[in-house]
Formats: sequence, structure tokens, C-alpha cells
Amino acid sequence: QPQNQSLHVAILPSPGMGHVIPMVEFAKRLVGNHNFTVTFVVPNAGPPSTAMRSVFTGLPDSIHLEFLPPVNFDDLPEGSKIEMQIALTVVRSLASIRHALESLVSRRVGLVALVVDHFGLDAFGVARDLNLSSYLFYPSAATALSVILHLRELDKTTSLDYWELPDPVKIPGSFPIPGKDLPDPILDRKSDVYKLTLKKSTQYRLADGIIVNTFNDLERGVISSLQKRETSEQLPRVYPVGPLVKMERTTLVEEESNCLTWLDGQARGSVLFVSFGSGGTLSSRQINELALGLEKSEERFLWVVRPPNDKAASAAYFKVNRQNESSFDFLPEGFLSRTRDRGLVVASWAPQAQILSHDSTGGFLTHCGWNSILESLVNGVPLIVWPLFAEQRMNAFLLTEDIKVALRPTAGESGFVEKEQIARVVKALMEEEGEEREKLRKRMEKLKAAAAAALSEDGNSTKALAEVAYVWKSQIGN
Ligand code: UDP
Repeated sequence: QPQNQSLHVAILPSPGMGHVIPMVEFAKRLVGNHNFTVTFVVPNAGPPSTAMRSVFTGLPDSIHLEFLPPVNFDDLPEGSKIEMQIALTVVRSLASIRHALESLVSRRVGLVALVVDHFGLDAFGVARDLNLSSYLFYPSAATALSVILHLRELDKTTSLDYWELPDPVKIPGSFPIPGKDLPDPILDRKSDVYKLTLKKSTQYRLADGIIVNTFNDLERGVISSLQKRETSEQLPRVYPVGPLVKMERTTLVEEESNCLTWLDGQARGSVLFVSFGSGGTLSSRQINELALGLEKSEERFLWVVRPPNDKAASAAYFKVNRQNESSFDFLPEGFLSRTRDRGLVVASWAPQAQILSHDSTGGFLTHCGWNSILESLVNGVPLIVWPLFAEQRMNAFLLTEDIKVALRPTAGESGFVEKEQIARVVKALMEEEGEEREKLRKRMEKLKAAAAAALSEDGNSTKALAEVAYVWKSQIGN
């Protein structure tokens, strides 16, 4: 390989904005700070959504893109778990992943490593065959990583389902977590997705290193326990490089810039942003309660609304497209006109990173996707947690009970979070000079400063990234 050629890393993100966005941020840093070239090899189950395309536009020239041929899901049973669908997209793309990597190797571009997320582990075999090192990029909390790494042991300790355990579960280095709040895929031990996750517990250990989108001050106990176990249990080296979040302004479509213009006209810290991530949905009854609760709170809000789905909370996950027609027929009658002067409702997708960094945003009601949490945290915005699927319940638990920067509404006897409860929590978070709001805000400000410090020139996360880059630079490229 010629002396001056930069080294090359291939990144394989599994479908999902929550995986692609932080991996793109990771690539930008690798290119910007360490002069690497990156090729994204992108498996998918259909044509890339508008949101997905926009994440991949305007990138530096040293980041290349290769969309793989879409896989077919026609044979999947209805109601298959979202985690199974994501994992299958990668498995069914393995031949084209191999082809893409072989082609990079044959062009002698200096390829040293393959980086996958937690659904791409099956591609490690391809990396091995091609003499590349294999890295796991973990786009969620180090605590979730620790839970999965610990699952092999946990599995042997009881035959009960974890939600039945009377005492909270002790995860190495972490605040004890109630069984019912552990990640969704491990709650039903008879399910295929449980078996898949148990397999991951072993597969993660095959990585040459694990890059995690978190930082020391956020998950100190868990990170140091993972790093200690590198020697005692021969875990791969763990590199906390976060928080890697989307920050810069991108080109916005009209509806998106309308959100920001609307925010410009609101008072500082007065708006509650309400969003359930890239694919979260609520049932019809729950949407109704939420609308009426927001109305009852009398606070200002900016709500990203998707049509209801009564079957699965992750129903829109693979279909992140902006709705063309914004029809909000499913909202309570008269809601839009009654809240017109203090609420804005947008369909499907909003420029979340910009909204959270806007001065007028003072609170965030979130489904607790890890990226959403990090984006809120780097902007010092306190939270209301409303977890839906994946490991979101666990994130919600940590935010309310351990880190204490969030309020959590509870479901009533009906099984739904009712409007009175919603109004109460929204008021508590948003009320000017409210006692609860001030407490949460102060803690968030501290985390915001810690996040900035982690990413500063000699911060821990910057150093961890430099360490990975150094290891890669000391390898000889293909
Ligand atoms: N996002 C956005 N606009 C939306 C919804 C989501 O920009 O309307 C972005 C959000 O800023 C975050 C990502 O999509 O970066 C969602 O990731 P997260 O981990 O929060 O949740 P997921 O979508 O994976 O459930």
C-alpha cells in the first residue's frame, strides 16, 4: 500500500435511523480527525427512505456509499419482532456484503477493519475470511451492552422469566434494574428473539473492540466494570467515544423549516417537544389521551405525530417516510383548533437535532431511543420518558431512577397513560420556576457540560477514538 494513502474502514449499519445516524457521525470524526476513508455498506429491506437518504447527503468526499440490493421479507410471519426483521435484513444480505468487501480488498484501498452494529455480527465471518479486524459499534447505552454481555450468566441463574424476579437484577457496574425493565428482546425466554440475543452475548466477545456511543460521566460504573473485565473475562476492549450526535444544520424541506420558524416565535424554554423516534407509534386510544393531556396541561408543545397503530409500537420503524398529506383525522375532534395558538403538530418527521438545540425548547417527551436521549443531553433539555420497545424501558428507568433527569408518567388501571396524568407530568416539567423542573434542569446542565468536556480536544471520548484510530493505523491494510 502506497505511503500516503489513507487507511480505509468499512461500516455496516443495520436498517434503522438510530443505527445509521451515530455511525455516520462516527465516520465523520474518523475522517476529519484521523484522515481515514470510510465506505458505508448499507443493507436494506426496500428503497432507502427520504430520511435515510438525507442522513447520507452532504458528507465529506472520503465517505463513500454502497446501497446493497434490498432483501425480500414477503415470507416473514405477520407480527415478527422488529429485532428479528433488522437481523434478517443483514443475514439475507451476507452474500452482497461479502461481494462489496471483496471488491474493496481487490482494489487495494487500504481496508483494515469492518465495523458493524449489534445486528451485523454475522458479518464478522466475512471480515475474518478477508483478514480484516472486526469491531462492534454499539449505538445504545453501555448498560444495555453490559446486560447483553451478562446474559449468558443471567440465563443460568434462574428458570423464571426475568420480569417475574422479585428483586432487581444486578448487572455488573450498574444500578440494579427491575426485571420488567430489562430490554424487550430478553423478556420472553421462549421467543426466537431471546435466542438471538443469547447468541449475541457470545458473538460480542468475538469483536476485536467495542466502540460505544456513551461517555464516562454518564455511565461511569458500567464503563469501568466493562474495562476491568477486559482482563478477567477477556472481553474485547471497550471504547466510549460519545456522545456522537447529529449537530450541524442540514438542508430542510419546507415543513421542517416551518417547525424552526414557529419555535423562533416562542419564549425561551417554553416548548415541550414530543416525539417517539424514527418509527414509534401509539394506539388510537393512547394518541387521544396524549392529545387531551397536552391540551389540559396548557403548556406549549411541538408534536411529531404518526397515524395510530393498534398492533405494534414499532410499526413505522421500517417506513420512515414523510407523510405527503398531513391528515390528522385521528386526533380528537377540535383539538387542532383549540390548541392552535400554543401547539404545533407535524406529520411523521421533524428536524429533531435542531429542535432540541433551539432556545425555545425546554423539555422533551421521548420514547427513549438512545440517540434521542444523547441529543437532549448535549443540549441540557430535561425529559419525560415514554418508552415503547427495544431497550427503551431500561433507558427510561436509568434516566428517572439513577441519573434523575426525567419524569415518568404511569399507566392507569385502563392500561393507558391517561390525560390527567399526562397533564400533571407535562406541567411539572414545563411550569416556569417549578421546583421539579429546576432540579432536573440543574442535573441536565451538569451532564451537558460533562458531554462537552468528553468531546473536547483532550476529553476522554476524543482520546478513546484516537486509540481506536491508532490501533487501526498500526495494522497493514488490504
Ligand atoms: N429523528 C429525527 N426526526 C424525527 C425522528 C427521529 O431527526 O422526527 C432522529 C433523531 O434525532 C435520532 C434518530 O432519528 O437521531 C432516532 O434515533 P433514536 O435512537 O432516538 O430512536 P429510534 O428511532 O432508533 O427508535
